[in-house]
Amino acid sequence: MDINNLQRENIKNLRPYSTARDEYKGQASVFLDANENSYGSPLEQNYNRYPDPLQLDLKEAISKIKGVPIENTFLGNGSDEAIDLLYRAFCEPGRDNVIVLPPTYGMYEVSAGINNVELRKVSLLPNFQLDLEGIAEAIDEHTKLIFICSPNNPTGNSIIRTDIETILANFKGLVVIDEAYINYAKQKTFIQELTEYPNLVILQTFSKAWGLAALRLGMAFAPRPVIDILNKIKPPYNINQATQNLALEALKNLTQVNQWIQSTVLEREALSEALKGLPKVKKVYPSDANFILVEVEQALDTYNALVEKGIIVRDRSKVTLCEGCLRITIGTPEENQNLVQALKSI
Ligand code: PMP
Repeated sequence: MDINNLQRENIKNLRPYSTARDEYKGQASVFLDANENSYGSPLEQNYNRYPDPLQLDLKEAISKIKGVPIENTFLGNGSDEAIDLLYRAFCEPGRDNVIVLPPTYGMYEVSAGINNVELRKVSLLPNFQLDLEGIAEAIDEHTKLIFICSPNNPTGNSIIRTDIETILANFKGLVVIDEAYINYAKQKTFIQELTEYPNLVILQTFSKAWGLAALRLGMAFAPRPVIDILNKIKPPYNINQATQNLALEALKNLTQVNQWIQSTVLEREALSEALKGLPKVKKVYPSDANFILVEVEQALDTYNALVEKGIIVRDRSKVTLCEGCLRITIGTPEENQNLVQALKSI
């Protein structure tokens, strides 16, 4: 599969944005090339210089943890930016289409709309797994991307691995596996499969297990041709210096992050059990993520009653296959107890 032929015609001859500083390979200490403020910045830390457009130090540190070479790593302003750039790189507006598998994460549809790309929805089966026949029928020669969210938001389940492998082996476009919640799952990441499939793109994020949603930092792991194309079209300085510095600091705290993951998984199981005992609760779906999908009596009324008590969950009760359901993020043990108490009293 030639990924370079998959990209949009108008970007085929683009080269990555390169500054005079990148081009100059010698030693330099005077930088008068980028119209920065040469005097400094009004902060203790110096932010007057543009950040590294390829974020090499940060990618190196990520590579040590994930085991993915830096040439197979792309960083985005959240994984949301990577999603948008995939559309802009591979989907010709008004001609191409992508496949999404609802109920699933909303940004795939938002980005399709913004980029004027046709969205083909193939609903998950009632057990929240893939409808492989339906997907095969929806694919045509203009299908460029298939988004598979695993563990899936908002249902919480992982998608059966062999089903994903079937699509990877047969689809001629890119298969984007969104692993935003992978750290909470029993299933393992597809990272080890990167060398096997030329059309595999894996999305991960610092917004969940790493606790850095406010920094806006997402990762895309993919074969080199895909990464090179994303690098050609990204805004030159898409990861700001503060984010690069702080993420580098955060990566030193893997032990803490692993402890939080463990606690979240334990709390998820405890909260699931507690909820199952409540009269208001009709069904608690098993989850591989840091949230659970819960079917409750009179979902909208329950949602509003929780809001009245100062507890905000996500109402998914109008979403197909999630009728009557709320999506509840796992909180701290105290927050989860408050939630259970509140539900008891409604
Ligand atoms: N993918 C999924 C499945 C998500 O649920 C979310 C956020 N809720 C994202 C991606 C976005 O992540 P980021 O903060 O990295 O843009």
